[in-house]
Amino acid sequence: MPKSRKRKATVPAAPPPPPRRPRPRMEYRARSDEAWYGARVVVQDRWLRVMFENSTENADEWYNPGADFASLGDVEALRARFRRECPPLDHARCGDLRPGDKLCLACDIHGDVEELKYYDAVLETVERAAHGVEQCACRFTVRWTEGPRSGCLDKVGIEVVCCVPESPIQDPVLSEFLDDLTKRFAEDQGTATAASQQADPTPMSEEELCGYSLAYSSSNNLFVL
Ligand SMILES: [Zn+2]
Repeated sequence: MPKSRKRKATVPAAPPPPPRRPRPRMEYRARSDEAWYGARVVVQDRWLRVMFENSTENADEWYNPGADFASLGDVEALRARFRRECPPLDHARCGDLRPGDKLCLACDIHGDVEELKYYDAVLETVERAAHGVEQCACRFTVRWTEGPRSGCLDKVGIEVVCCVPESPIQDPVLSEFLDDLTKRFAEDQGTATAASQQADPTPMSEEELCGYSLAYSSSNNLFVL
């Protein structure tokens, strides 16, 4: 039986914090080989550290907010390297796929299962096969858009197919890091715009000129305009 809660006469305790939702798993497109990996991020001494699942820290990739971003474009390029985890295609959902859908596939680089890497591809056609919900027997023709086979067509089975989620990744650490950079570039741009406006003033009307000369002459008696 749940314990009864007695009201205290003193100041009521703060309500319990809402349960923390686990951060959604995310994927990161590595700089080293441009393949997708499960990863997580932390900010360490202001740097963004990307840590790969099932890898040692030697494989970590780092981003220096002071040196690795020359423009807003660089910030957006990093943002595009992250996304939600791509779930494997469900055997019962193969009928939901449409030509043009974005997929992420295991690419057998050297004919070695140990060397499987994940790259994106686009679905071209599906060769349907009658099957139940247990084991999809369809064949999927895909065109690789990334990786060593980029541009090539391949026919694959469901075992290598993952679906790319459309909704963007919502990771608080990553968002804060990227949003700070975005804000910095927006402020720099604002300063630059203000400076250029100052350097290139719009012509003043006669009235403004008059006010200007009066103000100027009153503040500096040596010159009368
Ligand atoms: Zn199927």
